[in-house]
Amino acid sequence: MPTKYIIVTGGVLSGLGKGIAAASIGHLLSSRLKIIPIKCDGYLNVDPGTMNPFEHGEVFVLDDGGEVDMDFGHYERFLGVTCKTKWNLTMGKVFDMVRKKERRGDYLGKTVQYIPHVTDVIKRHIFEVGREEGADLLIVEIGGTVGDIENELFLESMRQMKEDVGRENILYVHLTYVPIPYGVNEQKSKPTQQSVNLLKQRGIFPDIIIGRCSEFLTKEIREKISSFCDVEPEAVITGLDVEDIYEIPVIFEQERLPEIVHKKLNIYSPPDLRKWKELIGNLRNPKHSIQVAMCGKYTKLEDSYASIIESFNHCSAHLGCKINVKWVETTDLHDTAFMDEVDGVIVPGGFGSRGTEGKIEIIRVARERNIPFLGLCLGLQLAVIEFARHVCGLTGANSTEIDPDTDHPVIDVLPEQKDVTEKGGTMRLGAYPAVLKEGTVVRRLYGTETVSERHRHRYEVNPAYHETIREKGMVFCGTSADGRLVEFIELPDLKFFVATQAHPELKSRMERPAPLFYGFVKACLDEQAVEGR
Ligand code: GLN
Repeated sequence: MPTKYIIVTGGVLSGLGKGIAAASIGHLLSSRLKIIPIKCDGYLNVDPGTMNPFEHGEVFVLDDGGEVDMDFGHYERFLGVTCKTKWNLTMGKVFDMVRKKERRGDYLGKTVQYIPHVTDVIKRHIFEVGREEGADLLIVEIGGTVGDIENELFLESMRQMKEDVGRENILYVHLTYVPIPYGVNEQKSKPTQQSVNLLKQRGIFPDIIIGRCSEFLTKEIREKISSFCDVEPEAVITGLDVEDIYEIPVIFEQERLPEIVHKKLNIYSPPDLRKWKELIGNLRNPKHSIQVAMCGKYTKLEDSYASIIESFNHCSAHLGCKINVKWVETTDLHDTAFMDEVDGVIVPGGFGSRGTEGKIEIIRVARERNIPFLGLCLGLQLAVIEFARHVCGLTGANSTEIDPDTDHPVIDVLPEQKDVTEKGGTMRLGAYPAVLKEGTVVRRLYGTETVSERHRHRYEVNPAYHETIREKGMVFCGTSADGRLVEFIELPDLKFFVATQAHPELKSRMERPAPLFYGFVKACLDEQAVEGR
């Protein structure tokens, strides 16, 4: 069977959920096909690693160390694949490749142009990924909205691709918006018509239109979109507003999207959503609920912590427990009274000094009052600082990231980072193994002696202080094989006080919640039972 392609574009608005739509289509077709997702982003950064989470949401880190768009989180969670950096193409990367080729002399004698040189590089890259991975189906998501200058070259490449691969092997899916204006109370098709027109002007004729709407699309609107946009009425699919993104594959199945894809691409891979539906059922009908404080500095934008929220959802589905998040902005923390009302505290990853003293104070209260605590990356570093200051008596202990002149640099820059000056892609990135100590909470939760989790940091627990900290009772329950890098810590006398230098939230899946999150949520539930709340 020749490799098949599904191209997903979006129109009208950004933020309609193209990534989730692409991932859901993949989920539905994955039973018998090897599916590889590719994301094309129009921005000129080589990767999103240097962007502020306010700008672009969470930076997702892959096993191979790539810093990619958060849609890769959806792909991994919905498709069960381990993605690679190469599957994310940004315009920054594309221009980098073209420029290198030009300098090498690949285009000698020629004027280097957008078409065909840039578009060729894009297409060749996509074909190469398909070949290397032995993919049956590539799902290519084009970031942004049709009509944006930034994604024109990607769209042009997608247009050309049908000639290269054959029209019968490529399917174009366009996601649009179907509003129901207040007072009109009727589904409106005009934005869809206009957006499809923009796409057609670029030579792309969609096969499937997904209309994002707050209700199921009516027969009338399907027919109207069908006649204006030249798609069959059954190829007009509802992209329903849902509470949990995990419901989207179920909606698409109900809308018979897999059948349409099978018919048009001549592939057969029947969806099996039994287990998925069972887990969603648990998610929707929780028997318990807990309140967890998320203490960070990007709390105004939930997308910055997307994978943590998903890890909570995975735990909810397995433990039948709703997790209510209390967002705590630590920049101007005045008091910790909120901690009376929460069942547990999470201090997630972060950079720079803003908000760190507030987080350290919260960790102190959690430790002293035995409130379940989970620290992630910066969360581990701050837990070590708090312990050094208040238990080991190292006054003013700090990280050199926060206070370069501290008397006690218990957290210091990694040796391999000392001479690094470039910022892009230079942290300790990607999956690294850790050895877990027998008899510890972390070892029990993972159930294995070694684990591999993903990292994104420049600083570590300073080996010069290991002995002092350990002597006072903090257990380094997971370290690199040579023992130099502290990967997991815990305080064994407390109900649940665990932190890791890694980001276990990145590998959490619906079918298999991240063990540390699972343990944390269970501890919060136990805490609630004890307190009789
Ligand atoms: N800023 C810290 C470091 O670079 C922690 C990074 C993080 O939380 N991802 O080591």
